[in-house]
Amino acid sequence: MMTVSAPNTPVISASPATVEDRYGRRLRYLRLSVTDLCNLSCQYCNPVKGCAQSHHYKLSWDDLGFVADVAVRDLGVEAIRITGGEPTVRPGLTDWIASIRELPGLRDIAMTTNGMLLGKMSAALRDAGLRRVNVSLDSFNAEVFREVTRGGSLERCLDGISRAAELLERVKVNCVLLQGVNDHELEKFILFSHDKNIEVRFIELMPIFDQKEYFHRHFISVEEMKTRIAALGLKLEADTSRGYGPATTFHVAGTGARLGFISQMSDTKCLTCNKLRITADGALKACLLSPQEVDLVPLIAARDREAFAGALCGSFLQRAERYDLKQIISEPVSRTMQAIGG
Ligand code: SAM
Repeated sequence: MMTVSAPNTPVISASPATVEDRYGRRLRYLRLSVTDLCNLSCQYCNPVKGCAQSHHYKLSWDDLGFVADVAVRDLGVEAIRITGGEPTVRPGLTDWIASIRELPGLRDIAMTTNGMLLGKMSAALRDAGLRRVNVSLDSFNAEVFREVTRGGSLERCLDGISRAAELLERVKVNCVLLQGVNDHELEKFILFSHDKNIEVRFIELMPIFDQKEYFHRHFISVEEMKTRIAALGLKLEADTSRGYGPATTFHVAGTGARLGFISQMSDTKCLTCNKLRITADGALKACLLSPQEVDLVPLIAARDREAFAGALCGSFLQRAERYDLKQIISEPVSRTMQAIGG
Protein backbone atom coordinates (compact mmCIF):
# COMPACT_ATOMS: atom_id res chain seq x y z
CA MET A 1 0.00 0.00 0.00
CA MET A 2 1.34 3.38 -0.94
CA THR A 3 0.85 6.55 1.04
CA VAL A 4 1.48 9.91 -0.53
CA SER A 5 1.05 13.12 1.37
CA ALA A 6 -0.05 16.53 0.18
CA PRO A 7 -1.20 19.64 2.00
CA ASN A 8 -4.69 19.76 3.55
CA THR A 9 -5.81 16.64 1.87
CA PRO A 10 -6.73 13.11 2.59
CA VAL A 11 -5.00 10.50 0.48
CA ILE A 12 -6.74 7.22 0.47
CA SER A 13 -4.66 4.26 -0.52
CA ALA A 14 -6.56 1.07 -0.25
CA SER A 15 -7.63 -1.57 -2.68
CA PRO A 16 -8.65 -0.37 -5.21
CA ALA A 17 -6.48 2.71 -4.79
CA THR A 18 -8.21 6.07 -5.06
CA VAL A 19 -6.97 9.63 -4.93
CA GLU A 20 -9.50 12.24 -3.93
CA ASP A 21 -8.91 15.90 -3.17
CA ARG A 22 -10.47 18.18 -0.59
CA TYR A 23 -13.15 19.24 -3.06
CA GLY A 24 -14.29 15.65 -3.55
CA ARG A 25 -12.72 15.32 -6.99
CA ARG A 26 -11.37 11.88 -7.63
CA LEU A 27 -8.54 11.09 -10.03
CA ARG A 28 -10.03 8.79 -12.66
CA TYR A 29 -8.74 9.91 -15.99
CA LEU A 30 -5.31 10.26 -17.60
CA ARG A 31 -4.80 12.05 -20.87
CA LEU A 32 -1.56 10.80 -22.32
CA SER A 33 0.14 12.35 -25.32
CA VAL A 34 2.23 9.75 -27.13
CA THR A 35 3.86 12.14 -29.60
CA ASP A 36 3.97 15.85 -30.39
CA LEU A 37 4.30 15.08 -34.10
CA CYS A 38 1.26 15.70 -36.25
CA ASN A 39 0.45 15.09 -39.89
CA LEU A 40 -1.73 18.23 -39.88
CA SER A 41 -1.16 21.68 -38.44
CA CYS A 42 -4.53 23.11 -37.42
CA GLN A 43 -4.66 26.89 -37.07
CA TYR A 44 -6.11 26.88 -33.56
CA CYS A 45 -3.95 24.04 -32.30
CA ASN A 46 -0.60 25.03 -33.71
CA PRO A 47 -0.87 28.72 -34.49
CA VAL A 48 2.74 29.00 -35.60
CA LYS A 49 2.67 27.77 -39.16
CA GLY A 50 5.34 25.20 -39.74
CA CYS A 51 6.21 25.13 -36.04
CA ALA A 52 9.19 22.81 -35.51
CA GLN A 53 8.05 19.34 -34.63
CA SER A 54 10.23 17.08 -32.62
CA HIS A 55 11.29 13.79 -34.15
CA HIS A 56 12.65 12.75 -30.82
CA TYR A 57 10.30 10.99 -28.43
CA LYS A 58 11.37 11.53 -24.88
CA LEU A 59 9.05 8.84 -23.57
CA SER A 60 9.50 5.40 -25.12
CA TRP A 61 6.59 2.95 -25.35
CA ASP A 62 8.15 1.20 -22.39
CA ASP A 63 8.14 4.48 -20.44
CA LEU A 64 4.50 5.04 -21.39
CA GLY A 65 3.70 1.50 -20.27
CA PHE A 66 5.21 2.28 -16.87
CA VAL A 67 3.19 5.50 -16.69
CA ALA A 68 -0.07 3.69 -17.46
CA ASP A 69 0.72 0.85 -15.09
CA VAL A 70 1.34 3.13 -12.10
CA ALA A 71 -1.61 5.39 -12.89
CA VAL A 72 -4.02 2.48 -13.09
CA ARG A 73 -2.72 0.05 -10.48
CA ASP A 74 -1.43 2.48 -7.85
CA LEU A 75 -3.66 5.52 -8.28
CA GLY A 76 -6.96 4.08 -9.46
CA VAL A 77 -7.08 5.71 -12.89
CA GLU A 78 -9.96 4.09 -14.81
CA ALA A 79 -9.71 5.71 -18.20
CA ILE A 80 -6.80 6.58 -20.47
CA ARG A 81 -7.21 8.83 -23.47
CA ILE A 82 -4.40 8.67 -25.99
CA THR A 83 -3.65 11.93 -27.74
CA GLY A 84 -0.90 13.91 -29.44
CA GLY A 85 0.23 15.61 -31.79
CA GLU A 86 -1.39 12.90 -33.83
CA PRO A 87 -1.14 9.56 -32.01
CA THR A 88 -1.66 7.44 -35.12
CA VAL A 89 1.59 8.69 -36.70
CA ARG A 90 3.75 7.09 -34.04
CA PRO A 91 4.82 3.59 -35.10
CA GLY A 92 4.07 0.97 -32.44
CA LEU A 93 0.79 2.51 -31.23
CA THR A 94 -1.36 -0.60 -31.67
CA ASP A 95 1.16 -2.89 -29.92
CA TRP A 96 1.30 -0.46 -27.03
CA ILE A 97 -2.48 -0.32 -26.70
CA ALA A 98 -2.57 -4.13 -26.68
CA SER A 99 0.06 -4.12 -23.94
CA ILE A 100 -2.01 -1.97 -21.56
CA ARG A 101 -5.53 -3.20 -22.31
CA GLU A 102 -5.50 -5.86 -19.58
CA LEU A 103 -4.40 -3.57 -16.77
CA PRO A 104 -6.72 -4.43 -13.89
CA GLY A 105 -9.10 -1.55 -13.22
CA LEU A 106 -8.63 0.11 -16.60
CA ARG A 107 -12.19 0.40 -17.89
CA ASP A 108 -11.74 2.57 -20.91
CA ILE A 109 -9.08 3.25 -23.53
CA ALA A 110 -9.98 5.99 -25.99
CA MET A 111 -8.10 8.15 -28.45
CA THR A 112 -8.38 11.62 -29.94
CA THR A 113 -7.29 11.76 -33.58
CA ASN A 114 -7.61 13.84 -36.72
CA GLY A 115 -8.82 10.71 -38.53
CA MET A 116 -6.37 10.94 -41.43
CA LEU A 117 -5.09 7.41 -40.77
CA LEU A 118 -8.26 5.86 -39.33
CA GLY A 119 -9.32 4.44 -42.70
CA LYS A 120 -6.40 2.07 -42.70
CA MET A 121 -5.81 1.71 -38.95
CA SER A 122 -9.27 1.19 -37.44
CA ALA A 123 -9.21 -2.61 -37.69
CA ALA A 124 -5.78 -2.88 -36.06
CA LEU A 125 -6.79 -0.40 -33.36
CA ARG A 126 -9.94 -2.40 -32.59
CA ASP A 127 -7.95 -5.63 -32.42
CA ALA A 128 -5.49 -3.96 -30.06
CA GLY A 129 -8.31 -3.07 -27.66
CA LEU A 130 -9.22 0.51 -28.51
CA ARG A 131 -12.92 1.03 -27.91
CA ARG A 132 -13.59 4.65 -28.70
CA VAL A 133 -12.26 7.49 -30.79
CA ASN A 134 -12.99 11.18 -30.97
CA VAL A 135 -12.24 12.56 -34.39
CA SER A 136 -11.57 16.24 -35.04
CA LEU A 137 -13.72 17.52 -37.90
CA ASP A 138 -14.15 21.25 -38.27
CA SER A 139 -15.86 21.68 -41.63
CA PHE A 140 -17.83 19.85 -44.32
CA ASN A 141 -16.36 22.15 -46.92
CA ALA A 142 -13.17 20.65 -48.38
CA GLU A 143 -11.57 24.05 -48.90
CA VAL A 144 -12.31 25.30 -45.37
CA PHE A 145 -11.17 21.95 -43.98
CA ARG A 146 -7.88 22.25 -45.87
CA GLU A 147 -7.40 25.80 -44.67
CA VAL A 148 -8.12 25.13 -40.99
CA THR A 149 -5.97 22.00 -40.93
CA ARG A 150 -3.31 23.51 -43.23
CA GLY A 151 -3.46 20.80 -45.83
CA GLY A 152 -5.81 18.06 -44.55
CA SER A 153 -8.22 16.09 -46.72
CA LEU A 154 -11.90 16.21 -45.75
CA GLU A 155 -12.54 13.06 -47.75
CA ARG A 156 -9.92 11.13 -45.83
CA CYS A 157 -11.26 12.37 -42.52
CA LEU A 158 -14.85 11.36 -43.39
CA ASP A 159 -13.62 7.99 -44.64
CA GLY A 160 -11.73 7.49 -41.37
CA ILE A 161 -14.86 8.37 -39.36
CA SER A 162 -16.98 5.87 -41.35
CA ARG A 163 -14.46 3.08 -40.95
CA ALA A 164 -14.09 3.72 -37.23
CA ALA A 165 -17.88 3.87 -36.80
CA GLU A 166 -18.13 0.46 -38.48
CA LEU A 167 -15.49 -1.17 -36.31
CA LEU A 168 -15.28 0.54 -32.92
CA GLU A 169 -17.80 0.77 -30.10
CA ARG A 170 -18.15 4.52 -30.20
CA VAL A 171 -17.08 7.41 -32.37
CA LYS A 172 -17.58 11.07 -31.56
CA VAL A 173 -16.72 14.12 -33.60
CA ASN A 174 -14.94 17.11 -32.06
CA CYS A 175 -15.59 20.47 -33.66
CA VAL A 176 -13.98 23.72 -32.49
CA LEU A 177 -16.64 26.19 -33.58
CA LEU A 178 -14.96 29.33 -34.92
CA GLN A 179 -16.64 32.65 -35.61
CA GLY A 180 -16.37 33.49 -39.31
CA VAL A 181 -14.77 30.15 -40.22
CA ASN A 182 -17.21 27.28 -39.65
CA ASP A 183 -19.98 28.73 -37.46
CA HIS A 184 -22.34 28.85 -40.47
CA GLU A 185 -22.07 25.03 -40.59
CA LEU A 186 -23.68 24.47 -37.18
CA GLU A 187 -26.82 22.97 -38.72
CA LYS A 188 -24.77 20.68 -40.97
CA PHE A 189 -23.03 19.24 -37.92
CA ILE A 190 -26.42 18.57 -36.30
CA LEU A 191 -27.67 16.86 -39.46
CA PHE A 192 -24.48 14.83 -39.61
CA SER A 193 -25.03 13.67 -36.03
CA HIS A 194 -28.61 12.67 -36.87
CA ASP A 195 -27.70 10.92 -40.15
CA LYS A 196 -24.67 9.04 -38.86
CA ASN A 197 -25.78 8.46 -35.28
CA ILE A 198 -22.54 10.05 -34.09
CA GLU A 199 -22.31 12.52 -31.20
CA VAL A 200 -20.85 15.86 -32.21
CA ARG A 201 -19.08 17.85 -29.51
CA PHE A 202 -18.70 21.57 -29.92
CA ILE A 203 -15.59 22.86 -28.18
CA GLU A 204 -15.00 26.46 -27.19
CA LEU A 205 -11.81 27.88 -28.61
CA MET A 206 -9.05 28.29 -26.02
CA PRO A 207 -6.32 30.94 -26.18
CA ILE A 208 -3.26 28.78 -26.48
CA PHE A 209 0.32 29.88 -26.99
CA ASP A 210 0.52 33.20 -28.88
CA GLN A 211 -3.09 32.99 -30.01
CA LYS A 212 -4.64 35.94 -28.22
CA GLU A 213 -5.71 37.75 -31.38
CA TYR A 214 -6.98 34.59 -33.06
CA PHE A 215 -8.94 33.82 -29.91
CA HIS A 216 -10.66 37.21 -29.74
CA ARG A 217 -11.48 37.07 -33.46
CA HIS A 218 -12.94 33.56 -33.53
CA PHE A 219 -14.21 32.65 -30.04
CA ILE A 220 -17.88 31.62 -29.72
CA SER A 221 -19.26 30.70 -26.31
CA VAL A 222 -21.37 27.62 -25.71
CA GLU A 223 -24.21 29.90 -24.68
CA GLU A 224 -24.06 31.58 -28.08
CA MET A 225 -23.94 28.18 -29.80
CA LYS A 226 -27.10 27.15 -27.93
CA THR A 227 -28.83 30.42 -28.84
CA ARG A 228 -28.06 29.79 -32.50
CA ILE A 229 -29.36 26.23 -32.25
CA ALA A 230 -32.59 27.51 -30.70
CA ALA A 231 -32.86 30.04 -33.56
CA LEU A 232 -32.84 27.07 -35.96
CA GLY A 233 -36.03 25.94 -34.23
CA LEU A 234 -34.27 23.04 -32.51
CA LYS A 235 -34.75 22.09 -28.88
CA LEU A 236 -32.00 20.61 -26.72
CA GLU A 237 -32.96 17.99 -24.14
CA ALA A 238 -30.40 17.25 -21.44
CA ASP A 239 -28.83 13.82 -21.51
CA THR A 240 -27.89 12.71 -18.02
CA SER A 241 -25.39 10.02 -18.98
CA ARG A 242 -21.85 11.22 -18.32
CA GLY A 243 -18.53 9.97 -19.60
CA TYR A 244 -15.12 10.69 -18.10
CA GLY A 245 -14.73 13.94 -20.02
CA PRO A 246 -15.95 17.50 -19.44
CA ALA A 247 -18.77 17.64 -22.03
CA THR A 248 -22.40 18.27 -21.14
CA THR A 249 -24.55 16.35 -23.57
CA PHE A 250 -27.97 16.81 -25.13
CA HIS A 251 -30.38 15.18 -27.55
CA VAL A 252 -31.94 17.36 -30.19
CA ALA A 253 -35.67 16.83 -29.68
CA GLY A 254 -37.43 14.90 -32.41
CA THR A 255 -34.17 13.92 -34.11
CA GLY A 256 -31.44 11.33 -33.58
CA ALA A 257 -28.80 14.03 -33.11
CA ARG A 258 -26.68 14.03 -29.96
CA LEU A 259 -24.59 17.07 -29.12
CA GLY A 260 -21.92 17.67 -26.51
CA PHE A 261 -20.65 21.07 -25.41
CA ILE A 262 -17.25 21.75 -23.88
CA SER A 263 -17.31 25.15 -22.27
CA GLN A 264 -13.92 25.40 -20.62
CA MET A 265 -13.72 29.15 -21.27
CA SER A 266 -17.22 30.37 -20.39
CA ASP A 267 -18.21 27.90 -17.72
CA THR A 268 -15.28 25.99 -16.33
CA LYS A 269 -15.79 22.41 -15.34
CA CYS A 270 -13.07 22.59 -12.68
CA LEU A 271 -15.36 21.35 -9.91
CA THR A 272 -15.80 17.99 -11.60
CA CYS A 273 -12.36 17.74 -13.21
CA ASN A 274 -11.03 14.25 -12.63
CA LYS A 275 -7.97 14.19 -14.80
CA LEU A 276 -4.25 14.67 -15.24
CA ARG A 277 -2.33 15.16 -18.47
CA ILE A 278 1.12 13.99 -19.42
CA THR A 279 2.77 15.47 -22.49
CA ALA A 280 4.86 13.49 -24.96
CA ASP A 281 8.04 14.93 -23.47
CA GLY A 282 7.10 13.81 -19.99
CA ALA A 283 5.64 16.97 -18.43
CA LEU A 284 2.77 16.56 -16.00
CA LYS A 285 0.02 19.15 -16.32
CA ALA A 286 -2.58 19.14 -13.59
CA CYS A 287 -4.60 21.77 -15.49
CA LEU A 288 -4.71 22.23 -19.24
CA LEU A 289 -4.80 25.99 -18.98
CA SER A 290 -2.19 26.44 -16.29
CA PRO A 291 1.45 27.08 -17.21
CA GLN A 292 2.57 24.93 -14.26
CA GLU A 293 4.28 21.66 -15.15
CA VAL A 294 6.26 18.97 -13.37
CA ASP A 295 9.08 17.22 -15.22
CA LEU A 296 8.42 13.50 -14.80
CA VAL A 297 11.23 12.26 -17.01
CA PRO A 298 13.78 11.51 -14.26
CA LEU A 299 11.19 9.60 -12.20
CA ILE A 300 10.04 7.62 -15.22
CA ALA A 301 13.59 6.89 -16.37
CA ALA A 302 14.46 5.62 -12.88
CA ARG A 303 11.25 3.53 -12.79
CA ASP A 304 10.75 5.00 -9.34
CA ARG A 305 7.20 3.85 -8.80
CA GLU A 306 6.57 5.50 -5.49
CA ALA A 307 8.10 8.88 -6.40
CA PHE A 308 6.29 8.88 -9.73
CA ALA A 309 2.95 8.07 -8.14
CA GLY A 310 3.69 10.71 -5.49
CA ALA A 311 4.29 13.36 -8.15
CA LEU A 312 0.98 12.59 -9.88
CA CYS A 313 -0.90 12.40 -6.65
CA GLY A 314 0.66 15.58 -5.23
CA SER A 315 -0.11 17.60 -8.37
CA PHE A 316 -3.69 16.36 -8.46
CA LEU A 317 -4.29 17.17 -4.81
CA GLN A 318 -2.73 20.63 -4.98
CA ARG A 319 -4.98 21.88 -7.78
CA ALA A 320 -6.87 25.04 -7.02
CA GLU A 321 -10.64 24.82 -6.73
CA ARG A 322 -10.90 26.44 -10.15
CA TYR A 323 -8.53 28.16 -12.52
CA ASP A 324 -8.32 31.90 -12.96
CA LEU A 325 -9.80 32.55 -16.38
CA LYS A 326 -8.86 36.25 -16.48
CA GLN A 327 -5.22 35.37 -15.93
CA ILE A 328 -5.38 32.67 -18.59
CA ILE A 329 -6.77 35.06 -21.16
CA SER A 330 -4.11 37.64 -20.39
CA GLU A 331 -1.23 35.13 -20.22
CA PRO A 332 -1.96 32.28 -22.60
CA VAL A 333 -0.41 28.88 -22.04
CA SER A 334 3.20 28.66 -23.17
CA ARG A 335 2.84 25.49 -25.25
CA THR A 336 0.81 24.93 -28.38
CA MET A 337 -2.11 22.53 -27.94
CA GLN A 338 -0.26 20.16 -30.23
CA ALA A 339 2.53 20.00 -27.65
CA ILE A 340 0.05 19.46 -24.80
CA GLY A 341 -2.39 16.99 -26.31
CA GLY A 342 -5.65 18.91 -25.91
N1 SAM B 1 -4.37 15.29 -33.51
C1 SAM B 1 -5.48 14.91 -32.73
C2 SAM B 1 -6.72 15.66 -33.14
O1 SAM B 1 -6.65 16.44 -34.11
O2 SAM B 1 -7.77 15.45 -32.55
C3 SAM B 1 -5.26 14.97 -31.23
C4 SAM B 1 -4.61 16.18 -30.68
S1 SAM B 1 -5.58 17.66 -30.63
C5 SAM B 1 -4.45 18.69 -29.73
C6 SAM B 1 -6.79 17.28 -29.42
C7 SAM B 1 -8.00 18.17 -29.37
O3 SAM B 1 -7.63 19.48 -29.01
C8 SAM B 1 -8.76 18.28 -30.66
O4 SAM B 1 -10.08 17.87 -30.47
C9 SAM B 1 -8.71 19.74 -30.99
O5 SAM B 1 -9.87 20.17 -31.61
C10 SAM B 1 -8.52 20.38 -29.63
N2 SAM B 1 -7.89 21.69 -29.68
C11 SAM B 1 -6.70 22.02 -30.18
N3 SAM B 1 -6.44 23.32 -30.06
C12 SAM B 1 -7.51 23.88 -29.44
C13 SAM B 1 -7.85 25.20 -29.03
N4 SAM B 1 -7.04 26.24 -29.22
N5 SAM B 1 -9.03 25.36 -28.41
C14 SAM B 1 -9.87 24.33 -28.20
N6 SAM B 1 -9.60 23.06 -28.57
C15 SAM B 1 -8.44 22.83 -29.19
